[in-house]
Amino acid sequence: MRISKTEFISCPSCGRTLFNLQDTTKKIQDRTGHLPGVRIAVMGCIVNGPGEMADADFGYVGSGPGKVDLYVSYDCVRRGIPSGEAVDELVDLVKEHGRWQEPPQAEDASLSLGLDLIREQDTGAGNKANATKGHHVMQAVAARAHRESGPDGLTLGSDIVRDSL
Ligand code: SF4
Repeated sequence: MRISKTEFISCPSCGRTLFNLQDTTKKIQDRTGHLPGVRIAVMGCIVNGPGEMADADFGYVGSGPGKVDLYVSYDCVRRGIPSGEAVDELVDLVKEHGRWQEPPQAEDASLSLGLDLIREQDTGAGNKANATKGHHVMQAVAARAHRESGPDGLTLGSDIVRDSL
């Protein structure tokens, strides 16, 4: 199976959790959610977190109040990072290990979303309403290409929409 986006694993959270798991996971997803094939674990504490990261490539683990340890696979490589810096450090770590790529431009992201919705229907995983939404997203991108690039943009946009049908 090919993984087209970052996969996140997070612990269910419990009394030991050292940070707001939902907010932190959202922050990490916002920065790293576009990395195909990368698995990132977000775990609330070091008591059980490292052992439960499954096969994550990188781990973000609460190690004390306001402190985070970062893992590469099961190895702890950075300890006691202030939580305000930990997401940046995680991104640095992903870069150091050659797994980073720049996020797609907004337009590419819209196209990719539109295509995903359409493909989901093709594979039976989605539904007609979502596929229609996907076509609308792509038509909006085509219209913007026309506005910004003139006739060439229109041709490009039309090709994109036609190819998706
Ligand atoms: S990893 Fe730690 S915080 Fe998360 S559920 Fe397990 S024990 Fe609780």
